[in-house]
Amino acid sequence: MIDSLTVLASISLMNALLYKRMEQLARTDGQTRLFKRNVFDETLSEEIGRAARHGLRLSIAMLDIDHFRNFNNKYGHITGDWVLREMARLIRETMPSYTLTARWGGEEFVVLFPNDGAPAAATRINQLQKVLAEQLRIPAEIAPEAGAERVTFSAGISQFPDHAQEALELVRLADEALYRAKNTGRNRVIVYGT
Ligand code: GH3
Ligand code: MG
Ligand code: MG
Repeated sequence: MIDSLTVLASISLMNALLYKRMEQLARTDGQTRLFKRNVFDETLSEEIGRAARHGLRLSIAMLDIDHFRNFNNKYGHITGDWVLREMARLIRETMPSYTLTARWGGEEFVVLFPNDGAPAAATRINQLQKVLAEQLRIPAEIAPEAGAERVTFSAGISQFPDHAQEALELVRLADEALYRAKNTGRNRVIVYGT
């Protein structure tokens, strides 16, 4: 006979596991397994507070895949989804553990670099571009005709407190730099104000 204490213990363990799973679902994007935007927003506010108290800098980078609509049209959404997952994997591999990456939405990502100025963040993102160029190859079983296709992204970077002191404004300026990267040829990283 199973005693009631054992039953209670297993119920509470199940509850704990369920709770953990629910929390994970709320914080993580199912497709890419990167954080969701709300986690980025929360962390950015906290990190801005911390940086302000300690007189430190921080940077953010907004990334957007180039011509992704064309890519989807050419190779289909399934292949596009594979690219998003692969890019997320390469981001996880390339960015240092003290950074936080979230899926901003669609094919856009945002990276938070606590303590780093914009030049250091730009170096990291340039390194990611190189990794993507060298390593992202679409396998024949995903799309046999896409083997030679190269996926690139553009990025914009802004820095606290030099460019903006508020989270929303910091994001807006990174976005502005990103759009300049798009308008000046794509596949490049631009720091706001440079
Ligand atoms: P640009 O270089 O200007 O960024 O061109 P773009 O075509 O990438 O333009 P934009 O960023 O506006 O387009 C986003 C496209 O990304 C639209 C949609 O087809 C695609 N997309 C967004 N989310 C997903 C997704 O979850 N899966 C797939 N396969 N495609 C997505
Ligand atoms: Mg986009
Ligand atoms: Mg795009």
